[in-house]
Amino acid sequence: MKLNSLIKNIKSKFSDQVFFDENLSNYSWFNLGGPAKIIFKPKNLHELSFFLQEIKGFKKIKVLGVGSNTLIRDGGYNGIIIKFGKSFSHLSMLNENTIVAGASVLDKSVSNFALENFVTGLEFLSCIPGSIGGAIRMNSGCYGEDISKILVSVQAIDFDGKIKVIRKEDINFFYRGCNLSDNLIFVSATFKGRKNKKAEIEKKMKDLIEKKKKDQPSQIKTCGSTFKNPNEQKAWKLIKDSGCAGMIVGDAYISKKHCNFFVNKGNAKSEHLEDLINRVRNKVLEKTGISLELEIKIIGEKI
Ligand SMILES: Cc1cc2nc3c(=O)[nH]c(=O)nc-3n(C[C@H](O)[C@H](O)[C@H](O)COP(=O)(O)OP(=O)(O)OC[C@H]3O[C@@H](n4cnc5c(N)ncnc54)[C@H](O)[C@@H]3O)c2cc1C
Repeated sequence: MKLNSLIKNIKSKFSDQVFFDENLSNYSWFNLGGPAKIIFKPKNLHELSFFLQEIKGFKKIKVLGVGSNTLIRDGGYNGIIIKFGKSFSHLSMLNENTIVAGASVLDKSVSNFALENFVTGLEFLSCIPGSIGGAIRMNSGCYGEDISKILVSVQAIDFDGKIKVIRKEDINFFYRGCNLSDNLIFVSATFKGRKNKKAEIEKKMKDLIEKKKKDQPSQIKTCGSTFKNPNEQKAWKLIKDSGCAGMIVGDAYISKKHCNFFVNKGNAKSEHLEDLINRVRNKVLEKTGISLELEIKIIGEKI
């Protein structure tokens, strides 16, 4: 189905929730990206399902969380961006140690909610600046923990509008990813921890946050680690040892504190970030024979 023929239909049926040609730079932590043809912000699951059935057959759809792992190209996105609002940010206790979280809840809110309910095991989420939807797709984690270790199930909707519950046992999670189809939109997830004393949970959270502050830069326009760590090696060290520290393209640079964090100084273009990524990858390959794999996602069209 052609996008233009969809637009008229969508405009008439979802006028409050659809936005056309809106710039995406506010949807990514890099603060970069051209316009999206359509942005859809569903009010609830029923509306999302109805929307997907209306556009059935059109597959150029991307869901965005808070964009802390996504570089959006300068040419924007020639398709439909789905962005969840408040109605997907619910949090509740299913039983004494099991939490259900909407896909747009911030990871740190889940961690705080677990603390308030004396549930341990979710403290690491306080160090990840994304949403639950993004965390599942990325199998996000740090300091030896990741989403796969606390997940019970994911509730998702496919591009045909069908709702599914997928159990953790049926998902293959790996380092910074999973095998769940790109045609699935996660709407909520269920996590399980263990009961513990509030003071102990709080201490663990504080320690992790402190550690994170020491290890990584903050208050900058970045999407965190650009490349995945290859087997047993650290990407930041390979980048540093290959002589890439200090490399600059336009207003895109590599953080001095953490060589795997690439940053928009203020006026970079996505093209500059992508150019910097390619240069670093080539240099590391040339010096070490290792081909770094991207951790961040790059979406959209080049100009
Ligand atoms: C300063 C900083 C520090 C970071 N530290 C860490 C860290 O310690 N560990 C770590 O793992 N990551 C880290 N990250 C990366 C990032 O925060 C995580 O990958 C995070 O989970 C991404 O969530 P998001 O909502 O921002 O996802 P987005 O960037 O919006 O999206 C990421 C991917 O998830 C998909 N997605 C998002 N929501 C949904 C949904 N509802 N359904 C289906 N697919 C969806 C998107 O399509 C995209 O493919 C860091 C980033 C920054 C900026």
